[in-house]
Amino acid sequence: MRYPVMKIFKEKILENGQILINECSKCGISVWAVTKGMSAHPEIALTLKAAGFQVLADSRISNIIKMKEAGIESEYALIRIPMPSEIEDTVRYCDYSMVSELESIFEMSRICDDLKKDHKIVIMIDMGDLREGFCPTELESSYEKLMNISPYLHIAGVGANFACASGALPGRENLTQLIEYSKEMEKKLTCPIGLVSGGGTCTLVQMIKGTLPEGINGLRLGESILLGTDSSVNFPFTMLHRDTMEIVAELSEVRVKPTLPIGEIGMDFSGNVPVFHDRGNRLRGVLAIGRQDVRIEGLLPLDEGVEIITASSDHLLVDLEDCPKKYKAGDTLRFRPDYPAMLSASTSSYVQKIFC
Ligand SMILES: *Cc1c(COP(=O)(O)O)cnc(C)c1O
Repeated sequence: MRYPVMKIFKEKILENGQILINECSKCGISVWAVTKGMSAHPEIALTLKAAGFQVLADSRISNIIKMKEAGIESEYALIRIPMPSEIEDTVRYCDYSMVSELESIFEMSRICDDLKKDHKIVIMIDMGDLREGFCPTELESSYEKLMNISPYLHIAGVGANFACASGALPGRENLTQLIEYSKEMEKKLTCPIGLVSGGGTCTLVQMIKGTLPEGINGLRLGESILLGTDSSVNFPFTMLHRDTMEIVAELSEVRVKPTLPIGEIGMDFSGNVPVFHDRGNRLRGVLAIGRQDVRIEGLLPLDEGVEIITASSDHLLVDLEDCPKKYKAGDTLRFRPDYPAMLSASTSSYVQKIFC
Protein backbone atom coordinates (compact mmCIF):
# COMPACT_ATOMS: atom_id res chain seq x y z
CA MET A 1 0.00 0.00 0.00
CA ARG A 2 1.18 3.52 -0.81
CA TYR A 3 0.76 5.77 2.23
CA PRO A 4 -0.77 8.15 3.22
CA VAL A 5 -4.13 6.51 2.78
CA MET A 6 -7.62 7.84 3.40
CA LYS A 7 -9.85 4.92 4.33
CA ILE A 8 -13.55 5.55 3.85
CA PHE A 9 -16.08 3.20 5.41
CA LYS A 10 -18.91 3.44 2.91
CA GLU A 11 -21.41 1.43 4.93
CA LYS A 12 -21.24 3.96 7.79
CA ILE A 13 -21.83 6.90 5.45
CA LEU A 14 -24.70 5.01 3.83
CA GLU A 15 -26.28 4.46 7.25
CA ASN A 16 -25.80 8.11 8.24
CA GLY A 17 -27.56 9.06 5.01
CA GLN A 18 -30.46 6.70 5.61
CA ILE A 19 -30.90 7.86 9.21
CA LEU A 20 -30.91 11.52 8.16
CA ILE A 21 -33.33 11.00 5.27
CA ASN A 22 -35.63 9.23 7.71
CA GLU A 23 -35.39 11.74 10.58
CA CYS A 24 -35.79 14.70 8.25
CA SER A 25 -38.79 13.21 6.45
CA LYS A 26 -40.54 12.89 9.82
CA CYS A 27 -40.27 16.69 9.99
CA GLY A 28 -41.43 17.16 6.40
CA ILE A 29 -37.94 17.97 5.19
CA SER A 30 -36.28 16.67 2.03
CA VAL A 31 -32.50 16.57 1.98
CA TRP A 32 -29.95 17.34 -0.69
CA ALA A 33 -26.74 15.39 -0.12
CA VAL A 34 -23.71 17.67 -0.40
CA THR A 35 -20.72 15.96 -2.01
CA LYS A 36 -18.05 18.69 -1.96
CA GLY A 37 -16.49 17.62 1.35
CA MET A 38 -15.25 14.46 -0.37
CA SER A 39 -14.48 16.22 -3.69
CA ALA A 40 -17.53 14.46 -5.20
CA HIS A 41 -15.69 11.15 -5.41
CA PRO A 42 -17.90 8.84 -7.50
CA GLU A 43 -17.79 6.14 -4.80
CA ILE A 44 -19.26 8.65 -2.35
CA ALA A 45 -21.87 9.76 -4.87
CA LEU A 46 -22.89 6.12 -5.43
CA THR A 47 -23.09 5.55 -1.68
CA LEU A 48 -25.34 8.59 -1.28
CA LYS A 49 -27.58 7.42 -4.12
CA ALA A 50 -27.79 4.00 -2.47
CA ALA A 51 -28.85 5.74 0.75
CA GLY A 52 -31.78 7.22 -1.18
CA PHE A 53 -30.89 10.86 -1.84
CA GLN A 54 -32.66 12.26 -4.92
CA VAL A 55 -30.47 15.31 -5.35
CA LEU A 56 -26.67 15.48 -5.17
CA ALA A 57 -25.40 18.98 -4.48
CA ASP A 58 -21.94 20.40 -5.01
CA SER A 59 -20.33 23.81 -5.09
CA ARG A 60 -18.34 23.12 -8.25
CA ILE A 61 -19.62 22.37 -11.74
CA SER A 62 -16.45 20.35 -12.42
CA ASN A 63 -17.49 18.01 -9.58
CA ILE A 64 -21.00 17.69 -10.98
CA ILE A 65 -19.61 16.90 -14.43
CA LYS A 66 -17.29 14.32 -12.84
CA MET A 67 -20.24 12.53 -11.18
CA LYS A 68 -22.28 12.63 -14.38
CA GLU A 69 -19.38 11.29 -16.42
CA ALA A 70 -19.06 8.45 -13.90
CA GLY A 71 -22.59 7.51 -14.95
CA ILE A 72 -24.30 8.39 -11.68
CA GLU A 73 -27.92 9.10 -12.43
CA SER A 74 -29.31 11.80 -10.22
CA GLU A 75 -30.67 15.27 -10.07
CA TYR A 76 -27.80 17.70 -9.49
CA ALA A 77 -27.73 21.04 -7.72
CA LEU A 78 -25.05 23.70 -7.91
CA ILE A 79 -24.99 25.23 -4.43
CA ARG A 80 -22.33 27.86 -5.00
CA ILE A 81 -23.84 30.89 -6.71
CA PRO A 82 -22.64 30.69 -10.32
CA MET A 83 -19.91 32.88 -11.72
CA PRO A 84 -21.34 34.83 -14.67
CA SER A 85 -18.85 32.91 -16.85
CA GLU A 86 -20.35 29.54 -15.90
CA ILE A 87 -24.04 30.29 -16.27
CA GLU A 88 -24.37 28.39 -19.52
CA ASP A 89 -22.72 25.31 -17.98
CA THR A 90 -24.97 25.68 -14.95
CA VAL A 91 -28.06 25.38 -17.12
CA ARG A 92 -26.50 22.64 -19.22
CA TYR A 93 -25.31 20.36 -16.41
CA CYS A 94 -27.41 21.16 -13.35
CA ASP A 95 -31.07 20.67 -12.54
CA TYR A 96 -30.97 23.23 -9.72
CA SER A 97 -28.79 26.16 -8.83
CA MET A 98 -28.71 28.74 -6.08
CA VAL A 99 -28.63 32.33 -7.32
CA SER A 100 -28.34 35.80 -5.87
CA GLU A 101 -27.80 38.22 -8.78
CA LEU A 102 -30.67 39.45 -10.94
CA GLU A 103 -28.39 39.73 -13.98
CA SER A 104 -27.38 36.08 -13.54
CA ILE A 105 -31.03 35.07 -13.41
CA PHE A 106 -31.78 37.00 -16.62
CA GLU A 107 -28.80 35.42 -18.38
CA MET A 108 -29.99 32.01 -17.19
CA SER A 109 -33.42 32.80 -18.53
CA ARG A 110 -31.96 33.63 -21.99
CA ILE A 111 -29.90 30.43 -22.00
CA CYS A 112 -32.89 28.31 -20.94
CA ASP A 113 -34.78 29.73 -23.90
CA ASP A 114 -31.88 29.12 -26.29
CA LEU A 115 -31.33 25.56 -25.13
CA LYS A 116 -35.03 24.89 -24.54
CA LYS A 117 -33.93 23.33 -21.30
CA ASP A 118 -35.67 23.46 -17.94
CA HIS A 119 -33.72 24.71 -14.95
CA LYS A 120 -34.76 25.37 -11.39
CA ILE A 121 -33.39 28.14 -9.22
CA VAL A 122 -33.33 28.68 -5.50
CA ILE A 123 -33.19 32.37 -4.66
CA MET A 124 -30.71 32.93 -1.88
CA ILE A 125 -31.53 35.45 0.81
CA ASP A 126 -28.81 36.67 3.16
CA MET A 127 -30.14 36.08 6.65
CA GLY A 128 -27.04 37.40 8.39
CA ASP A 129 -24.06 35.21 7.52
CA LEU A 130 -23.06 37.88 4.96
CA ARG A 131 -21.89 35.51 2.28
CA GLU A 132 -24.26 35.09 -0.67
CA GLY A 133 -27.83 36.22 -1.01
CA PHE A 134 -30.19 39.10 -1.71
CA CYS A 135 -30.51 41.52 1.17
CA PRO A 136 -34.11 41.26 2.37
CA THR A 137 -34.64 44.96 1.61
CA GLU A 138 -33.86 44.39 -2.08
CA LEU A 139 -36.49 41.71 -2.55
CA GLU A 140 -39.46 44.06 -2.87
CA SER A 141 -37.99 45.84 -5.90
CA SER A 142 -36.96 42.57 -7.58
CA TYR A 143 -40.33 40.83 -7.80
CA GLU A 144 -41.54 42.67 -10.86
CA LYS A 145 -38.35 41.86 -12.75
CA LEU A 146 -38.67 38.20 -11.83
CA MET A 147 -42.14 38.03 -13.40
CA ASN A 148 -40.78 38.02 -16.96
CA ILE A 149 -38.33 35.15 -16.96
CA SER A 150 -38.36 32.22 -19.39
CA PRO A 151 -41.04 29.56 -18.92
CA TYR A 152 -38.12 27.09 -18.85
CA LEU A 153 -36.67 28.77 -15.76
CA HIS A 154 -38.56 27.82 -12.62
CA ILE A 155 -38.28 29.45 -9.23
CA ALA A 156 -38.10 26.36 -7.05
CA GLY A 157 -37.76 28.17 -3.80
CA VAL A 158 -35.76 30.34 -1.47
CA GLY A 159 -32.72 29.44 0.54
CA ALA A 160 -30.37 30.75 3.16
CA ASN A 161 -26.96 29.85 4.37
CA PHE A 162 -25.65 30.00 7.91
CA ALA A 163 -22.50 29.39 9.94
CA CYS A 164 -20.15 29.63 6.98
CA ALA A 165 -18.59 33.01 6.40
CA SER A 166 -19.43 34.75 9.66
CA GLY A 167 -20.61 32.00 11.96
CA ALA A 168 -24.17 33.40 12.08
CA LEU A 169 -26.34 30.59 13.43
CA PRO A 170 -29.82 29.64 12.28
CA GLY A 171 -32.51 30.12 14.88
CA ARG A 172 -36.27 30.31 15.23
CA GLU A 173 -36.33 34.02 14.44
CA ASN A 174 -34.26 34.18 11.24
CA LEU A 175 -35.73 30.94 9.88
CA THR A 176 -39.26 32.21 10.51
CA GLN A 177 -38.25 35.35 8.61
CA LEU A 178 -37.06 33.20 5.71
CA ILE A 179 -40.44 31.45 5.60
CA GLU A 180 -42.17 34.85 5.62
CA TYR A 181 -40.08 35.94 2.62
CA SER A 182 -41.07 32.80 0.74
CA LYS A 183 -44.76 33.52 1.42
CA GLU A 184 -44.37 37.11 0.30
CA MET A 185 -42.60 35.98 -2.86
CA GLU A 186 -45.35 33.47 -3.54
CA LYS A 187 -47.95 36.23 -3.31
CA LYS A 188 -46.02 38.76 -5.38
CA LEU A 189 -45.00 36.33 -8.13
CA THR A 190 -48.31 34.44 -8.01
CA CYS A 191 -46.46 31.16 -8.33
CA PRO A 192 -45.95 28.47 -5.73
CA ILE A 193 -42.59 28.62 -3.91
CA GLY A 194 -42.14 24.95 -3.11
CA LEU A 195 -38.80 24.86 -1.38
CA VAL A 196 -37.62 26.69 1.70
CA SER A 197 -34.05 25.51 2.03
CA GLY A 198 -32.98 26.37 5.54
CA GLY A 199 -29.27 25.59 5.50
CA GLY A 200 -26.82 22.81 6.16
CA THR A 201 -25.84 20.71 9.14
CA CYS A 202 -26.11 23.70 11.50
CA THR A 203 -29.82 23.90 10.71
CA LEU A 204 -30.20 20.14 11.22
CA VAL A 205 -29.12 20.83 14.80
CA GLN A 206 -32.17 23.10 15.19
CA MET A 207 -34.40 20.37 13.76
CA ILE A 208 -33.14 17.83 16.26
CA LYS A 209 -33.50 20.29 19.13
CA GLY A 210 -37.09 20.82 17.98
CA THR A 211 -36.67 24.55 17.40
CA LEU A 212 -37.08 24.53 13.62
CA PRO A 213 -40.14 26.54 12.60
CA GLU A 214 -42.75 24.76 10.50
CA GLY A 215 -42.31 25.70 6.87
CA ILE A 216 -38.63 24.88 6.46
CA ASN A 217 -38.87 21.89 4.13
CA GLY A 218 -35.37 21.51 2.72
CA LEU A 219 -31.86 21.03 4.07
CA ARG A 220 -28.51 20.58 2.32
CA LEU A 221 -26.39 18.23 4.38
CA GLY A 222 -22.72 17.45 3.98
CA GLU A 223 -20.83 17.24 7.26
CA SER A 224 -23.50 15.34 9.19
CA ILE A 225 -23.74 12.64 6.51
CA LEU A 226 -20.03 12.29 5.81
CA LEU A 227 -18.62 12.67 9.33
CA GLY A 228 -21.58 12.49 11.71
CA THR A 229 -20.49 15.80 13.23
CA ASP A 230 -21.50 19.46 13.42
CA SER A 231 -18.72 22.02 13.56
CA SER A 232 -20.98 25.05 14.13
CA VAL A 233 -21.68 24.29 17.80
CA ASN A 234 -20.15 20.80 18.13
CA PHE A 235 -23.59 19.28 18.53
CA PRO A 236 -23.32 15.58 19.36
CA PHE A 237 -25.42 13.57 16.89
CA THR A 238 -25.81 10.43 18.98
CA MET A 239 -27.67 8.62 16.19
CA LEU A 240 -24.90 9.04 13.60
CA HIS A 241 -21.62 7.20 12.98
CA ARG A 242 -18.56 9.34 13.55
CA ASP A 243 -16.07 6.63 12.57
CA THR A 244 -16.79 7.02 8.85
CA MET A 245 -13.21 7.53 7.73
CA GLU A 246 -9.60 7.63 8.86
CA ILE A 247 -6.27 8.80 7.51
CA VAL A 248 -3.40 6.35 7.83
CA ALA A 249 0.24 7.43 7.63
CA GLU A 250 3.53 5.54 7.94
CA LEU A 251 6.29 6.20 10.47
CA SER A 252 9.61 6.68 8.73
CA GLU A 253 11.65 7.48 11.85
CA VAL A 254 11.16 6.67 15.53
CA ARG A 255 13.77 8.01 17.94
CA VAL A 256 14.27 9.55 21.37
CA LYS A 257 14.97 13.27 21.01
CA PRO A 258 14.95 16.34 23.25
CA THR A 259 11.66 18.26 23.40
CA LEU A 260 13.43 21.62 23.14
CA PRO A 261 14.96 22.53 19.77
CA ILE A 262 18.70 23.12 19.78
CA GLY A 263 20.31 26.37 18.64
CA GLU A 264 18.85 29.72 17.73
CA ILE A 265 15.10 29.58 16.84
CA GLY A 266 13.75 31.35 13.76
CA MET A 267 10.48 30.85 11.98
CA ASP A 268 9.04 27.41 11.31
CA PHE A 269 7.45 26.15 8.09
CA SER A 270 4.27 28.18 8.61
CA GLY A 271 6.09 31.42 9.33
CA ASN A 272 5.46 31.30 13.07
CA VAL A 273 8.10 31.27 15.78
CA PRO A 274 7.27 28.05 17.58
CA VAL A 275 7.26 27.76 21.34
CA PHE A 276 8.17 24.43 22.90
CA HIS A 277 8.14 23.35 26.53
CA ASP A 278 10.99 21.32 27.92
CA ARG A 279 9.71 17.87 28.79
CA GLY A 280 13.10 16.20 28.71
CA ASN A 281 13.99 13.52 26.21
CA ARG A 282 10.98 11.75 24.69
CA LEU A 283 10.25 9.18 22.02
CA ARG A 284 9.03 10.85 18.86
CA GLY A 285 8.02 9.69 15.42
CA VAL A 286 8.25 11.20 11.96
CA LEU A 287 5.26 10.39 9.75
CA ALA A 288 5.36 10.75 5.99
CA ILE A 289 2.37 13.06 5.72
CA GLY A 290 2.32 16.86 5.82
CA ARG A 291 0.52 20.05 5.09
CA GLN A 292 0.47 19.34 1.37
CA ASP A 293 -1.67 16.29 2.13
CA VAL A 294 -4.03 17.37 4.87
CA ARG A 295 -4.90 20.19 7.26
CA ILE A 296 -2.94 18.87 10.23
CA GLU A 297 -4.89 20.84 12.87
CA GLY A 298 -7.96 18.80 11.96
CA LEU A 299 -6.45 15.39 12.72
CA LEU A 300 -7.41 13.47 15.84
CA PRO A 301 -4.98 10.64 16.69
CA LEU A 302 -6.84 7.34 17.05
CA ASP A 303 -3.99 5.29 18.49
CA GLU A 304 -3.58 5.42 22.26
CA GLY A 305 -1.00 7.86 23.61
CA VAL A 306 -0.16 9.54 20.29
CA GLU A 307 0.18 13.33 20.44
CA ILE A 308 0.72 15.63 17.46
CA ILE A 309 3.74 17.93 17.92
CA THR A 310 3.92 19.90 14.67
CA ALA A 311 4.12 19.48 10.91
CA SER A 312 5.81 20.84 7.83
CA SER A 313 4.87 20.37 4.19
CA ASP A 314 5.77 16.67 4.10
CA HIS A 315 6.39 15.56 7.69
CA LEU A 316 4.18 15.20 10.72
CA LEU A 317 5.93 14.86 14.07
CA VAL A 318 4.26 12.91 16.86
CA ASP A 319 5.12 12.27 20.50
CA LEU A 320 5.04 8.51 21.17
CA GLU A 321 6.49 8.46 24.68
CA ASP A 322 3.19 7.64 26.40
CA CYS A 323 2.05 4.97 23.92
CA PRO A 324 1.49 1.50 25.36
CA LYS A 325 2.61 0.10 22.01
CA LYS A 326 6.29 0.24 21.07
CA TYR A 327 6.32 1.75 17.60
CA LYS A 328 9.09 1.42 15.04
CA ALA A 329 9.66 2.81 11.55
CA GLY A 330 7.32 1.08 9.12
CA ASP A 331 4.39 0.99 11.57
CA THR A 332 1.33 3.06 10.72
CA LEU A 333 -0.77 5.47 12.77
CA ARG A 334 -4.43 6.34 12.26
CA PHE A 335 -6.14 9.74 12.52
CA ARG A 336 -9.74 10.89 12.26
CA PRO A 337 -10.20 14.00 10.08
CA ASP A 338 -12.55 16.88 10.87
CA TYR A 339 -14.34 18.65 7.99
CA PRO A 340 -11.44 20.85 6.78
CA ALA A 341 -9.04 17.90 7.11
CA MET A 342 -11.40 15.68 5.10
CA LEU A 343 -11.73 18.43 2.49
CA SER A 344 -7.96 18.83 2.12
CA ALA A 345 -7.13 15.10 2.13
CA SER A 346 -9.84 14.33 -0.39
CA THR A 347 -8.45 17.05 -2.65
CA SER A 348 -4.79 16.04 -2.34
CA SER A 349 -3.67 13.69 -5.10
CA TYR A 350 -0.90 12.49 -2.76
CA VAL A 351 -3.45 10.80 -0.47
CA GLN A 352 -4.64 7.45 -1.78
CA LYS A 353 -8.37 6.87 -1.24
CA ILE A 354 -9.51 3.41 -0.29
CA PHE A 355 -13.20 2.64 0.00
CA CYS A 356 -14.02 -0.25 2.28
C1 LIG B 1 -21.29 23.20 1.85
C2 LIG B 1 -22.65 23.72 1.83
C3 LIG B 1 -23.68 23.07 2.52
C4 LIG B 1 -23.41 21.85 3.38
O1 LIG B 1 -23.09 22.24 4.68
P1 LIG B 1 -22.74 21.16 5.82
O2 LIG B 1 -22.47 22.01 6.99
O3 LIG B 1 -21.55 20.38 5.35
O4 LIG B 1 -23.94 20.30 6.01
C5 LIG B 1 -24.96 23.57 2.42
N1 LIG B 1 -25.23 24.66 1.67
C6 LIG B 1 -24.28 25.32 1.00
C7 LIG B 1 -24.66 26.52 0.19
C8 LIG B 1 -22.97 24.89 1.06
O5 LIG B 1 -22.02 25.55 0.37
